Amino acid sequence: MQSAPVTTLDIQQIRQDFPILDQQVNGRPLVYFDNAATNQKPRPVIDALTQYYEGYNANIHRGIHHLAEQATAAFEASRRAIQQFLNARHWEEIIFTYGTTDGINLVAQTYGRRFLGEGDEIIISTMEHHSNIVPWQMLCEERGCVLKVIPVDDNGELILEEYEKLLSARTKFVSCVHVSNSLGTINPVKTIIDMAHQVGAVVLIDGAQASSHIDLDVQALDADFYVFSAHKLYGPTGMGVLYGKKALLDAMPPYRGGGEMIKEVTFAKTTYNEIPYKFEAGTPNIADVIAVKTALEYMAGLGKENIAAHEHELLQYATEQLSELDGLRIIGQAKEKIGVVSWVMDGIHHQDTGVILDQQGIAVRTGHHCTQPLMQRFGIAGTTRASFAVYNTKDEVDRLIVGLRRVQKMML
Ligand code: PLP
Repeated sequence: MQSAPVTTLDIQQIRQDFPILDQQVNGRPLVYFDNAATNQKPRPVIDALTQYYEGYNANIHRGIHHLAEQATAAFEASRRAIQQFLNARHWEEIIFTYGTTDGINLVAQTYGRRFLGEGDEIIISTMEHHSNIVPWQMLCEERGCVLKVIPVDDNGELILEEYEKLLSARTKFVSCVHVSNSLGTINPVKTIIDMAHQVGAVVLIDGAQASSHIDLDVQALDADFYVFSAHKLYGPTGMGVLYGKKALLDAMPPYRGGGEMIKEVTFAKTTYNEIPYKFEAGTPNIADVIAVKTALEYMAGLGKENIAAHEHELLQYATEQLSELDGLRIIGQAKEKIGVVSWVMDGIHHQDTGVILDQQGIAVRTGHHCTQPLMQRFGIAGTTRASFAVYNTKDEVDRLIVGLRRVQKMML
């Protein structure tokens, strides 16, 4: 694990921004270590949602009245903010979705159905979330494509030599996770993209876990598609982003049919809208889209590099402390990791660990983390996972360690 600069953030002050943290669970102050599933929302994001509903709730784009114009302006301002966040060349390249899963399905069902066929190969990796496996399996079943999988080594890193061997003129699409939600591994996505482009393949990067931890620049990465969910970057649930290169999005057929995605409808023929609206049928999550801009501003205010440095400190500390527990094995020891640590304990089921920690007010995630093939790779049914956000502290890690000693005492 590489060292990172020490953070300068005032974590106790930051904690005041997150009202949910100020509560007792089972008689103990809450320790929230389930941030990779979804992280908590700061007051400004909650306020942005309330302000929309209290002040200017209206449907967007078609209304000519004051509230509709205000809502439309805020909604589109969010698109520009995300364009900046990703350093996308064009604002039209930002498509609002319901989340990462929705974005991947959109690409599989539109780009995939239009451009991939019998015998074409799609490469994913062993550490994909189910949402970056199943849509491609469904496409393969329908279109006769072949799914290939990059293996993972014992440290939880992708084996790039094996990836190289999988690449050929038959490779038409590569879909790979930027950061593993189960192990925390940061993948060398720039290299993965460049290697795919050398054989002419198009690449999607699943940025669900990367977006709140790593500086993103889709132009520097040369990603063809990049997807993420707002709820993992201090924003609301049910809202996400698909970035796609303009030329690709223009060439793709629409996904869902309905209002907003059309230019003109007659019973004889419908003409579709331009991007991004071609892919945004129906009334979107207006309030949530607007609040994402606030979430991005909140993160920018703290400094993403400061957030990453703090989380890295916690990761290093937690890794050291966990390593001192007898019979505990950390799964995933990649050189480059975000603040995610997963482990198994001899003779103790992860479910029991989760329940006993919860009794002590500590929220962790247990199970396969929607990465069953990865668990199979490591020969385990699941892990216990702690994942850190900007508001977590070393004291909370200490509570986790005490909690785990208690688990061992009770179960062994
Ligand atoms: N990909 C990764 C790496 C994830 O961690 C997750 C969620 O945990 C997803 C995809 C799916 O995200 P969502 O459920 O927001 O669509």
